[in-house]
Amino acid sequence: MVFALFHESQPLSFFYFLGILSMKKTDYQLIIIGGGPAGLTAGLYAARGRLDVLLIEKGATGGQVLVTDWVDNYPGFYDGITGFELMDKMTAHADRFDLEKKFANVTGMDLQGEQKKISLESGEELTAQSVIISTGAKPRKLNIPGEEELSGQGVSYCATCDGPFYRDQEIAVVGGGNTAIQEALHLTKFASKVTVIHRRDTLRATAILQEKAFAEEKIEFIWDAQVSEVVGNDEGVESLNIQHNDGSTSNLPVTGFFILIGIAPNNEVLPLDQLESDEGGFVVTDHEMCTKLPGVFAAGDIRSKNSRQIINAAGEGATAELSAEHYLSNLGDSAE
Ligand code: NAP
Repeated sequence: MVFALFHESQPLSFFYFLGILSMKKTDYQLIIIGGGPAGLTAGLYAARGRLDVLLIEKGATGGQVLVTDWVDNYPGFYDGITGFELMDKMTAHADRFDLEKKFANVTGMDLQGEQKKISLESGEELTAQSVIISTGAKPRKLNIPGEEELSGQGVSYCATCDGPFYRDQEIAVVGGGNTAIQEALHLTKFASKVTVIHRRDTLRATAILQEKAFAEEKIEFIWDAQVSEVVGNDEGVESLNIQHNDGSTSNLPVTGFFILIGIAPNNEVLPLDQLESDEGGFVVTDHEMCTKLPGVFAAGDIRSKNSRQIINAAGEGATAELSAEHYLSNLGDSAE
């Protein structure tokens, strides 16, 4: 038929073939959702292994690390490296193996059955034999009065992004983990004083960060206390109301308030009724990154786990991809 068209109507055949060439590919062996360190590593492995793979990312590749000021513990980078630079290198590394990427918002998925279905905001429907979920996590909120109203006007969840706005000003950080202490140290480059408010009397952050923070004269601590309200007006933050664990209250004048109290999963588009998740909404997998659904894997900060490091995310991305390859090769065997 196509041959006949080619002979009988030259212009029609030209457009027919042009149409075929411009038809968008919608079916893959593997779709990776999320382009942080886990997704990029899975993508690198899959592209290098010549799988028919697509990575979908809603923003820029790199995830949370993009806004991490400094990464001092990623092996091989002896002098440390900025988060942005590290993720730029990871993206370039996956690109070297021609990883196909699509920048789009996933709005839904059906991961049951052999053919996994992914819906995009554009209305496009993609399908794959296997899926790696690496959608990561986002900063957790305090959910106190004034937080939402003053978000972007003095309340921030990203010291790297907003630190330079607070040159020579007095600011506060809430949290006692690695992020809070690392970013409090970063903020001393700009602010005249950084008060760290922590709900207990010991920090969760690693010893080396604690040592640095205790030695930094611009950092002061308020222990055993919680921020109960962010006070401000149209111009921005003015102060914080603080509730101390002994029942007393106080007010701390600051112009900037950084909330760095951990992370919440990016699980809004995941079919949580099909997957198993923990009480925090993180996806449960086994040690091979397999979820309870055949052909569906999860890696990185979206996983239910204790240690969240860039190196873990990258390692889990590699493991998830190898598990996906194993699953796909078994599918091939059963089809023969
Ligand atoms: P995190 O380790 O979970 O620490 C969260 C901190 O916020 C804890 O100190 C916690 O207090 C406090 N907190 C939680 N909810 C609170 C609330 N409602 N009010 C007041 N304080 C609250 O989170 P993270 O620091 O964001 O780190 C997340 C993961 O990334 C961790 O696994 C961390 O090790 C990793 N990370 C690694 C590096 C690095 O290796 N360089 C850097 C950054 C992050 P409690 O201590 O009382 O629970």
